[in-house]
Amino acid sequence: MSKCHQSDTDSDMDSPYRKILSPVSSLKGVGKVIAGEFRKRGVQTVYDLLYVLPRSYQDRRKFVPIHQVSSGETALIKGKIVELRRVRLRYRTMIEMLVGNEKGIISARWMGAPQYLFRFRKGEEIVLFGRFRTSMKMLETYHPEIIEAGDEYEIGRLVPVYSEIEGISQRRIRRIVMDAINRFTQDLEDPLPTMIREARQLPELSEAIKEAHFPYESRPEDLRIRRSPAQRRLIFDEFFMLQLALALKRSKASHERGIAFGIQGMEEIYRSLPFKLTGAQTRVIQEIMRDMSRPFPMNRLLQGDVGCGKTVVALIAAWVVVRNGYQVAFMAPTQLLAEQHYLSTVELTRRMNLKAALLISGMGSHADEVRDRARQGDIDILIGTHALIQESVKFHKLGLAIIDEQHRFGVAQRAVLKQKGISPDVLTMTATPIPRTLGLTLYGDLDISVIDELPPGRKPIQTKLFHERDRSKVYAMLRDEIDKGRQAYVVYPLIEKSEKMDLKDATHMAEELRGVLPDFHIGLIHGRMPLDQREGAMEAFKKGAIDILVSTTVIEVGIDIPNATIMVIENAERFGLSQIHQLRGRVRRSVYPSKCLLLASYRKTGEARRRLGVIEKTTDGFRIAEEDLAIRGPGEFLGERQSGFYQFRVANLMRDAEILSEAREGAFRLVEGDPGLAHRTYNILRELFGGGQGHWDEFVDVA
Ligand code: ADP
Ligand code: MG
Repeated sequence: MSKCHQSDTDSDMDSPYRKILSPVSSLKGVGKVIAGEFRKRGVQTVYDLLYVLPRSYQDRRKFVPIHQVSSGETALIKGKIVELRRVRLRYRTMIEMLVGNEKGIISARWMGAPQYLFRFRKGEEIVLFGRFRTSMKMLETYHPEIIEAGDEYEIGRLVPVYSEIEGISQRRIRRIVMDAINRFTQDLEDPLPTMIREARQLPELSEAIKEAHFPYESRPEDLRIRRSPAQRRLIFDEFFMLQLALALKRSKASHERGIAFGIQGMEEIYRSLPFKLTGAQTRVIQEIMRDMSRPFPMNRLLQGDVGCGKTVVALIAAWVVVRNGYQVAFMAPTQLLAEQHYLSTVELTRRMNLKAALLISGMGSHADEVRDRARQGDIDILIGTHALIQESVKFHKLGLAIIDEQHRFGVAQRAVLKQKGISPDVLTMTATPIPRTLGLTLYGDLDISVIDELPPGRKPIQTKLFHERDRSKVYAMLRDEIDKGRQAYVVYPLIEKSEKMDLKDATHMAEELRGVLPDFHIGLIHGRMPLDQREGAMEAFKKGAIDILVSTTVIEVGIDIPNATIMVIENAERFGLSQIHQLRGRVRRSVYPSKCLLLASYRKTGEARRRLGVIEKTTDGFRIAEEDLAIRGPGEFLGERQSGFYQFRVANLMRDAEILSEAREGAFRLVEGDPGLAHRTYNILRELFGGGQGHWDEFVDVA
């Protein structure tokens, strides 16, 4: 659960939420032990508790007459105990209770509950809630809930069912929540401006909280799909607050002073390129140039599949910056990638008279020289890994920070790079397409450019799924391709045999492949290998001295070897679709037709087969991303950002996309009309967002 509502910070003292931020232990019936269990679930305050909505609701609005209960029905019944007895089974005791009246009788049974013999008496009236089914002509129910007659929390209403919490019964949770509602929501002011609320027919906040937990007016069918007005209101809220924080952040950034770069003479740059830019590249460059020429810092994300030509676009932006007398920092997540960017830069800028340098760890005293030159302004483009954000790295005049595969870096790391200049422009790049809903959440304050076109001449990639037992066919295809003079990647998910998971490890499989394909050169590269060995293997592969490069996912980003045209992905069922899509991008760069062969264990009808089928059929990264989000949730896309990502309490990005759009629109329109939230209807919002973004800050700090 999110970290944003703590009970013990001074800054909350003036907040309208102050009271509701009391610790859960201030509720009736919550002692140390229960508070501890709640804490394990991320529930610390009354507010936290109220925002854990019921998982489902039981319909106990009416008693079903016993003779009308049908088999398969879950029902609330009331009747006299006609018989109460112990049934001895081989190992355990069962208590059977016959309950009914003149019109019908049911049998209720409990295993191992001998105390019921003493707790209840024949002739007594009892209320049961359970699922009934007919067996040997009699309706029976196992372990029904026994409810005290006249218990107003439990009878005569839709009763909330919460996610199970160790050692706390549903009954108990309900009482605690009811106490929280009664004592803490009465004077809760609604931060949502009335106009926004009424335009969408959303109930007022305290009413919504109450109705979402203990529904009176909501329809069960709406509740089931989380669309009762109360639920909609709370989902809307959550999106709205986050979007408002994003809108405020963006509005603030657009008032910050930045560098207005001169962008004349683009034609000259285009002419010196070894190829013609694609339409998508040209469009994206125009978007970037528009930002760069304005006197505000650019904060733009460039999305596009591997190989679509993002690096070139970034380098063109870099060139403009250098021509204006500023420096560029270009940061990539791995050494391999940094080196490759360095080489492309040198290659592309040969005619541009730019000074590029590489800074990665392990460069020894040469690094000092590079740092000195960067500080003195003698390097135009400094390309590197995390080494760039070391304190010792200084720039004379940093104008642009480029961050490749930005999701691999944490928020703080990106911020450090930016702080090496004075409000430099920032261009982040990613080859992982992000589903739209997630993008609006993660990058809601960024401008986004998308390259949705590959450079011409690329042959489409053919992706084919093989079952483990067709392994020999895959080997035959590998052999075929290499006989044609091409090279291959074989990718494994892990590097060592783990006892729990029977993944084949790369080391082991490299050996096996050497046995199966003895006449080929097989190399190995994995993350735990010393760097020089890894680079040695990469170098040999580049030169063609290695035919098949067996690797773990360290090759995931950025490698560019046009002669490598076939990739085998082992244990494909263990990868996320987006990851497979990224991986296969490695062999999509060639002018030769390329193939991606997925080896997987799956059942014919199973989920894994269906999922992998998606990747077989489409190369549309966004489509694949949506599928990943639906199946595996947002974790797949978050990378290191996970820690700072706002974990929604009631909203769900997959289920509630349309509410997100509405909330975003509302929030952005509000800020556009009143960036200072000055109007009196925004009083509570203004307090909550404390001039800046208040405690929402950490979730929207995306730069
Ligand atoms: P990305 O960074 O998006 O993965 P790159 O910028 O590395 O892609 O481009 C992949 C390859 O395609 C590089 O070899 C690059 O030189 C080449 N390339 C980029 N744009 C074009 C283009 N418009 N026409 C032809 N080749 C291109
Ligand atoms: Mg790239």
